[in-house]
Amino acid sequence: MSARPARPMIANDTGTMPVSALSGVGPALVESLKRLGLERVQDLWFHLPLRYEDKTHVTTLADLRPGERAQVEGVVETVESGFRYRPQLKVAIGDGVGQTLLLRFFHFRRTQAEQLRPGTRLLCYGEARMGAQGLEMVHPQYQRITTEVPITVEERLSPVYPTTEGLGQKRLAGVIDKALALLPPDAQLELIPPELCAEHGLSSLREALLYVHRPPPDAHMGQLTLGRHPTQQRLAFEELLTQHLSLKRMRAAVRRRHAPVLGGDGQLRRRLQDGLPFQLTAAQQRVTREVAVDLVQPKPMLRLVQGDVGSGKTVVAALAALAALEAGRQVALMAPTELLAEQHLRNFRHWLAPLDIEVEWLAGKVQGKARQKALQRVADGAPIVIGTHALMQEGVSFARLGLVIVDEQHRFGVHQRLALRDKGLEGEQVPHQLVLTATPIPRTLAMSAYADLDVSSIDELPPGRTPVQTIAISNGRRHEVIERIHVACAEGRQVYWVCTLIEESEQLRAQAAEVAHAELSAALLGFHVGLIHGRMKPKEKQAVMDAFKAGELAVLVATTVIEVGVDVPNASLMVIENSERLGLAQLHQLRGRVGRGAVASNCVLLYQPPLGQLARERLQVMRETNDGFRIAEKDLELRGPGEVLGTRQTGQLSFRIADLARDAHLLPAVQSVGERMLRLHPKHAEQLIERWVGGAARYVHA
Ligand code: ADP
Ligand code: MG
Repeated sequence: MSARPARPMIANDTGTMPVSALSGVGPALVESLKRLGLERVQDLWFHLPLRYEDKTHVTTLADLRPGERAQVEGVVETVESGFRYRPQLKVAIGDGVGQTLLLRFFHFRRTQAEQLRPGTRLLCYGEARMGAQGLEMVHPQYQRITTEVPITVEERLSPVYPTTEGLGQKRLAGVIDKALALLPPDAQLELIPPELCAEHGLSSLREALLYVHRPPPDAHMGQLTLGRHPTQQRLAFEELLTQHLSLKRMRAAVRRRHAPVLGGDGQLRRRLQDGLPFQLTAAQQRVTREVAVDLVQPKPMLRLVQGDVGSGKTVVAALAALAALEAGRQVALMAPTELLAEQHLRNFRHWLAPLDIEVEWLAGKVQGKARQKALQRVADGAPIVIGTHALMQEGVSFARLGLVIVDEQHRFGVHQRLALRDKGLEGEQVPHQLVLTATPIPRTLAMSAYADLDVSSIDELPPGRTPVQTIAISNGRRHEVIERIHVACAEGRQVYWVCTLIEESEQLRAQAAEVAHAELSAALLGFHVGLIHGRMKPKEKQAVMDAFKAGELAVLVATTVIEVGVDVPNASLMVIENSERLGLAQLHQLRGRVGRGAVASNCVLLYQPPLGQLARERLQVMRETNDGFRIAEKDLELRGPGEVLGTRQTGQLSFRIADLARDAHLLPAVQSVGERMLRLHPKHAEQLIERWVGGAARYVHA
């Protein structure tokens, strides 16, 4: 065998330094960064932009097009503050030769309003939209231009990073800059052995990182937006490789574990089924059996149950839970959003109260004494605990956890699941795991995404469902849609109005919903219109959901917080705004909120013309079929610009840059490199996982 090239030094001290070692990073910033999972310098290297803004030039108002994000310049002509439904500041800027643009602000300080006097020159960046009075921008970024502060354009495309409240883009980009200055040469940075890099034509990791963080002004914006730039593909390869390595490693580790045998007498399960107002479908029965067979093995179950929205996964999960209870074990059920967790709580309480089984509630918002008490009961062996990711936090410990159920798993990373499972560690024994998802993904991808799981499918809907009729309507005919809502409400139907502004901040999404809420409240006099968004307190959200469920609200204006799991059978009309921006998977999830009762349901996809080819095809698919598996396949086929954002937004499979559909062509090479790294360079494999997965990696030592 010929000698391999000498291994480069991989001990990489700069990368593992804490972020606090960077100049200007004080305790407050450390805290903010920690919330983003950024604790070491290398976490900053791998904190990749969500998208880019091009502020390298100024677009004239005359050239500005609706739907475009652009930087524009103008002089304030008029300022108007209105208080019709709520405060609003309208600032018209002009280019001096007749073109104007309206800037709208819903949240503003008095000083801000005072600064925007007529005659002030502004440089703005935002998305142009067609409003009632022509082009407008809602909450654009802006700066005042004076003779002392002349216009300067950016030298590079501006990255937009995932961030957290209180940490602005500028500040974050600044810290990342400092971290990037410490990037070592490739020989130290690269963890994939050189011979494998050469074999698969992998280019420089260092250059790829520098490029994606700071693309030059001539970078191909289209490619970057799609994630198809070669540097992004290089990073996507590495991320997929990491995912593959960690799933493989997990799977191997799980195989070595033991689990409690959950073979009860079936009493509780029978009593639950006897009390249900319906019969299980054949598919539900089959999957229930598959789960039961796993649960009586002394090896941990790792089973994914996939089933279209409304296929009835919850009752299958409840039956699994009862199997654990019959065997004297505890069950934890984790859902990705508070709303969804609360819904499970109510379902379970409703089903289990007649069996005298109490259900414990543990969400992030349960604080103080209530939390202490709940924790105590869980530690003492409370049979079932339902909650959000708060279930995984420190301080939560179980007496004898036997089964972990995770709903809508694409919202959780694999590692979060493991963290919860590890709560049940007893020596070599771990709990069984049941994962529920409504996102069917085609087989090839499933093998990669869920390499560590066995899969069951509920491939049948309960009887009596009427398929949802779907139509697409241009936003120009919005008033007709509202008219239609009016008629529906008068007939006693309930309506969802979904606002889908794709923004990185929950605040902007909430604002968009507030605007729609005001509009509909004014248009639908005599009917109660509710509002729900992610910025509301859980109690408020619950109150709104309860009112909607009870029929007290005719219309519910919502952000995509209602995307997963919300179940209000009487709601039979859904309007989705800006539907052209959403991916098929997300549209399908949303639409799944209607068509849950026996009444005929409708879904209106409002879109902002002109429609691109891909958007057109997507809407077409939605009109043609209600079948989640077909939609998933189409989705893969059609993946396009909006999609990348759409999936990134929901954190699907928690990739930072990779997209399983777009990057599927990388998978064969990923598997081959992965296999050889595990065999020949296990230490590098570890480091790669540590690097990409960051803090959560400690859970991987399953
Ligand atoms: P999902 O799979 O989307 O989580 P759910 O478990 O929320 O679906 O079930 C959707 C609705 O269907 C619920 O109201 C549930 O009570 C009802 N349901 C579940 N199974 C059946 C069945 N076999 N027959 C009739 N209704 C059912
Ligand atoms: Mg569900």
